[in-house]
Amino acid sequence: MKNIAFFLDRDGVINTERKDYVKDINEFNIIEGALEAIKLIKENGYYVVIITNQSAINRGIMNVEKLHDIHKLLKDKLYFEFKTKIDGIYFCPHTPEEKCECRKPKPGLFLEAAKELDIALEESIMIGDSQKDIEAAQAVKCKSILLKNNEKLIDIVKNYLYVISQK
Ligand SMILES: [Mg+2]
Ligand SMILES: [Zn+2]
Repeated sequence: MKNIAFFLDRDGVINTERKDYVKDINEFNIIEGALEAIKLIKENGYYVVIITNQSAINRGIMNVEKLHDIHKLLKDKLYFEFKTKIDGIYFCPHTPEEKCECRKPKPGLFLEAAKELDIALEESIMIGDSQKDIEAAQAVKCKSILLKNNEKLIDIVKNYLYVISQK
């Protein structure tokens, strides 16, 4: 059986978005309930995969080591404080001008994750706060939920898990 995933956007879903980009760990502010949401998803037997556009890298305002520092902090918090983990983080470093295949709304990272982690895209879901997240998911027939202003990942996850448990 293939794995079913919750694909999560990062900025605006797990941590607060910054107009000037999240460039190091001091700028990485986790949104209330986000790590509990990840724990809950994992406890229900699903994969958690982060799919994130990080054009700050190729814009030259952040290097990839800083990005890895941020993701190590996230993984450490999940492990030591919540006894859980994520299954993958896929990021696109490109600017829109580079016209790559991995920057959302292009679905390249979803395809890469699905292949590496043996994920059934059509049964999986993307939760994001941008139309780009939704378009990328739709391009690979993955379900999706758009987080609106002030909606929190934890509430969306609880609700969605309840809905699928009723099927
Ligand atoms: Mg976002
Ligand atoms: Zn890219």
